[in-house]
Amino acid sequence: MKSFYITTTLPYVNAEPHIGFAYEILVADVIARNRVGEEVFFNTGTDEHGQKIFNAAEKAGEKVELYVERYAKEFENLKNMLGLSDNLKFIRTTSEDHIKAAQELWARCKKNDDIYEKEFEGLYCVGCERFLAERDMIDGKCSIHQTEPQLLKERNWFFKFKKYEEKLLNYLKNPDVIIPEWRREEAINFVQEGLEDFSISREKRRLSWGVPVPGDDTQVMYVWFDALTSYISTLGWPEDKDGNFKKFWEEGHTLQLAGKDQVRFQSLMWQAMLMSAGIKNTNQVFYHGFINSGGHKMSKSLGNVISPQDMVKRYGVDGTRYLLLRHVHPTDDTDITLERLDEWYDAGLANGLGNLVSRVLTMADKYGVSTVNSSVGNVENNSIKKLDIQDYVNHIWELIQKVDKKIQDEEPYKKYKTDHDVAINIVSDLCTNLFEIAHLLVPIMPKTAGIIKNSLENLKKPENLFPRKD
Ligand SMILES: [Zn+2]
Repeated sequence: MKSFYITTTLPYVNAEPHIGFAYEILVADVIARNRVGEEVFFNTGTDEHGQKIFNAAEKAGEKVELYVERYAKEFENLKNMLGLSDNLKFIRTTSEDHIKAAQELWARCKKNDDIYEKEFEGLYCVGCERFLAERDMIDGKCSIHQTEPQLLKERNWFFKFKKYEEKLLNYLKNPDVIIPEWRREEAINFVQEGLEDFSISREKRRLSWGVPVPGDDTQVMYVWFDALTSYISTLGWPEDKDGNFKKFWEEGHTLQLAGKDQVRFQSLMWQAMLMSAGIKNTNQVFYHGFINSGGHKMSKSLGNVISPQDMVKRYGVDGTRYLLLRHVHPTDDTDITLERLDEWYDAGLANGLGNLVSRVLTMADKYGVSTVNSSVGNVENNSIKKLDIQDYVNHIWELIQKVDKKIQDEEPYKKYKTDHDVAINIVSDLCTNLFEIAHLLVPIMPKTAGIIKNSLENLKKPENLFPRKD
């Protein structure tokens, strides 16, 4: 049996789960559910070390251990909130096994002569958790955080990133390693501009909340070095007692999902670390766009935050899945507002799918259709395999439109009065079409798909699936 590994990035637990991450994990969930007949390892988790988290806990007046525990639970709750697959694995970077794995990865890179010590002075951004280069700053401030970096002098451990330029270019030659294509070009450009060795540790006296560097009591790991290791520590690397690392990472197909600002971390730094440790590279990294609201990045100060909780409260689990999976562009940025979400919900669900289910089953019940042909024939669609979920969902809604049009054109409700048998045949066909639609909906809206299939099997109209919002 083929084996397939998929992981999201691990969100940093200094804030509640946001809509961008909800989208990422939903896409992963659809891809995982679609791998029928394969053994699937579906991973997510929380990234819990580092300065930002330490500061956030301090600000909240909480012990950092309790603070990360509380947030990890909030992220684990997404599983129920978004109706994610039962087999979702959740790794926390503060777990003992993960810490051991991060230390082992360090030891292997060091053994390969890729880690060295250096006295270093630089401008450090706490927000980014790294030293900034000239290109990261505008008017002396971090271009992302708009804050002035601190001048810091310390002795750190560095990773020989530059040494891997050629090997990375070679890895990036394969068009499959990054989707979409223009992100692969971006990665190639980063390497061609020249890579700089990066610091992978911090002085403990300044920051104690991190994984201890093996053999150096004065340092803890840079949070990225530790967090990236989670993609394999979750599989039980290095001991691999259950054989999951061998089965899924070494012998399976591996796919990582990440936001568009992650190219340097996921496709370059992490891949170089794997090369250094003699571990197989990731087969594919898929980069999605960002979700904005009203033309701006969502932020508390602008008051334009739409949280996954807000959405589930208003649109239900499957309503939320539909809205994000159909209306968020897979690789470009997407703008959403509550007004627009309401419109999309009414058009696609209340007036679209919900209305169709109600119409077809009302007629089936009334005209006495006896059984429904529940063979789904050849309705498969390749878009999920090509990682274009939006296209897959659009295809389903094209079918819904076609069936709506069929009702309009063939008018079974009129024919029923004159030719009963013809009307029953039409409605039986409509039921078969609806069954195919439900079948295609399984990875997108699993609960709704189940309700529709069940209603067709019992030929009984379900309760109003999607009440209107306006
Ligand atoms: Zn910054």
